[in-house]
Amino acid sequence: MAIPPLVFHPDYTYPLPAGHRFPMGKFGRIREVLIEDGVAPAEVFVAPEPVNRATLEAAHKPAYVEAIVSLSLPRADERRLGLPLSEALVRRARAAVGGTILAARLALERGLACNMAGGSHHAHPDHGAGFCVFNDVAVAVRALQNENRIGRVLVFDLDVHQGDGTAAFFANDPSVFTCSIHCEANYPHVKGLSDLDLGLPPGTKDDAYLALVRDTFETLLARVAPDLVFYNAGVDPHEDDSLGQLALSDNGLMARDRHVIGTCLKAGVPLACVVGGGYGPDLDTLARRHSTVHRAAIALAAARADRPVAPAAA
Ligand SMILES: [Zn+2]
Repeated sequence: MAIPPLVFHPDYTYPLPAGHRFPMGKFGRIREVLIEDGVAPAEVFVAPEPVNRATLEAAHKPAYVEAIVSLSLPRADERRLGLPLSEALVRRARAAVGGTILAARLALERGLACNMAGGSHHAHPDHGAGFCVFNDVAVAVRALQNENRIGRVLVFDLDVHQGDGTAAFFANDPSVFTCSIHCEANYPHVKGLSDLDLGLPPGTKDDAYLALVRDTFETLLARVAPDLVFYNAGVDPHEDDSLGQLALSDNGLMARDRHVIGTCLKAGVPLACVVGGGYGPDLDTLARRHSTVHRAAIALAAARADRPVAPAAA
């Protein structure tokens, strides 16, 4: 496989009011560092169509979609969302969901694709929360299921925060298996109910974390036998993250991402990666940390392409 498709839209980044703690600028910077470091040439980035309203409403409650697109969300709901509602935010949310849908389509065609945004896993069917407007993975699952492109799906969510919104979307849906490995002490304080929740204590380091990820993912992939995996590669389990309370190193994150991607490639299961959360004051450091999953995807895809074809049996 050549370089896997990287899905990016310029609307992923827009200026938030000064001092806002959500690092909105990081999305554009992830693309730049991959190009600057010679990891990905500019032509591998593909731009998605922003998601249309009908596709959003196949997953979210139409009244919630209406409140967002008409900029009429009640004040209390805007506070729960944690981002000021604006036309730029709506444009961004639609582009990000379109990006995860495109990454999923490309993953089905090519085996592996990454959205350079997405992982808005706190968005519920009827409300947004924790910086998440629309649940891009949930919308993508429904879009592709409704086209009969996929049946069973595994959502493997390694953002440090529990994927409570995604759990709510698929609580009564046996076709979608949701797994969240997170820090038990982090937001949300009232957890949702995924099909498998593994809450870690604060301070958990590489060895214990990686052992759990390895044990869990291979077993799940065999048990669920999905047509497509969505991987939330949030980097907020990193030791320097300003919100997360776990203690992974740079190498720990790389080993984690390589394991998830390598296991899917080996098993021949299509994989769509989304960036998830990551917080800190320095956008450059943060963007480099987020680019771990893209570096892992590019290296592993190249290694597979270079592998000699096994000689035919004599
Ligand atoms: Zn997070």
